[in-house]
Amino acid sequence: MQIAPIPTLDDETNQIRLMTAEIVANHIIPNEHFLQRRDADTPRRWAELIEMVKERGLWAPHLPEEYGGMGIGFLKLAYMNEILAWSPYSNPVFGILAPNSGNQKILVKYGTEEQKKKWLEPLVAGTMQSCFAMTEPDQPGSDPRSLQTRAVRDGDDWVISGHKWFSSNAKGAAFAIVMCRTEDDSNTDVNGRMTQIIVPCDTPGFNLVRNIPVWGHPSGHHSEIILNQCRVPLENALGKEGSGHQAAQDRLGAGRVYHCMNCVGQMWRAFDLMVKRSIERKVHGGPLEEKQFIQGFIADSYMDIQASRLMTIRCAEIMEAGLDARTDISAIKVFVPNAMHRVVDRAIQVHGALGISGDTPLEGMYRGARMLRLADGPDEVHRIVIAKNVLKRYHNGESWDFGL
Ligand SMILES: Cc1cc2nc3c(=O)[nH]c(=O)nc-3n(C[C@H](O)[C@H](O)[C@H](O)COP(=O)(O)OP(=O)(O)OC[C@H]3O[C@@H](n4cnc5c(N)ncnc54)[C@H](O)[C@@H]3O)c2cc1C
Repeated sequence: MQIAPIPTLDDETNQIRLMTAEIVANHIIPNEHFLQRRDADTPRRWAELIEMVKERGLWAPHLPEEYGGMGIGFLKLAYMNEILAWSPYSNPVFGILAPNSGNQKILVKYGTEEQKKKWLEPLVAGTMQSCFAMTEPDQPGSDPRSLQTRAVRDGDDWVISGHKWFSSNAKGAAFAIVMCRTEDDSNTDVNGRMTQIIVPCDTPGFNLVRNIPVWGHPSGHHSEIILNQCRVPLENALGKEGSGHQAAQDRLGAGRVYHCMNCVGQMWRAFDLMVKRSIERKVHGGPLEEKQFIQGFIADSYMDIQASRLMTIRCAEIMEAGLDARTDISAIKVFVPNAMHRVVDRAIQVHGALGISGDTPLEGMYRGARMLRLADGPDEVHRIVIAKNVLKRYHNGESWDFGL
């Protein structure tokens, strides 16, 4: 895996890309089998890599400098994300692992000084884990206004009861940011009924029921949680009461661009593996690269990657400029994980049985691409958003300006 400076980019962005690529290509990818193995030596290798990232000033690129991050803004981070995604191990090594990274951003934007000291600082330092608990088994996650976990004021406390699931990273987390209904349905502002509240996981009544089996793994990273009369101080609310829906939008909007840039980086690696394999592997009298089916895989994947990359960078540019990017965020959220699904599928096919083994990162990428078509809003919901926004313009007597 290698990159050259992009002539249209500024020096700082190119420098960040090159420094990131140097670490990922030369230090993380060659160590992947050690990091995957999780033996007695693994913690030392993790610590060395993290130390290297910190020394080179690349730690927590998504956060402002005052909170221990790089303070590089949206677009530079998108370019960096693309390269981090070459390896599934980069994000934790660079201190940018979801859902901690999303929680950090919410704490930066909505947290009080006390909340930042207590929860944000250890999260950035990497000494604490967290999760985000919004989705519920009994309500459609695609319609978050319907969520039923309720927080009721009682003296100086919130008392929270409800049922959550698919809370990623809950096992080992010190706290959860829980999406709670704090007003009833009589409130006419449907966007103002929810509040996000910090709930320490050792609060009495906070029950981690199980880690949900996912893709044949008996114990996945996504947990089911029952909150039974959990009592936390009123000051654990993030932002003002009723701001939970907006905070979720803030979190997910930016997160979707990072996820998509991450998909582009993974596609890049899958493409690299596919092309190399097609050159090396000889079947029926010649290398795979000479078969037209395989050339078709390469050409179609090239187009999928370029289209995904351009769409995502354009969306990041719109966000960086402070313009309304909601339609484009939905567009990339549908297009890019689907493109990744196709690219990784072709790369697996070219590798034969090896492709679904744990000896390449392809099978993990394949699962990731499929999951992303559900997580952070399923495809259908984003398609509806795109059509709704376009039609609204036309009903207002305007047309859609693709030049923006
Ligand atoms: C890997 C992974 C990690 C996750 N991590 C977290 C986490 O950390 N915290 C958290 O709170 N949640 C998390 N989630 C949950 C995720 O946000 C929800 O799965 C998602 O919002 C969809 O909600 P749901 O599963 O309840 O599906 P539902 O809302 O029940 O939707 C089911 C299906 O209905 C269809 N559909 C929905 N609305 C429409 C419509 N209007 N028109 C047509 N079809 C429609 C879609 O095909 C959709 O897939 C995670 C999910 C995954 C897969």
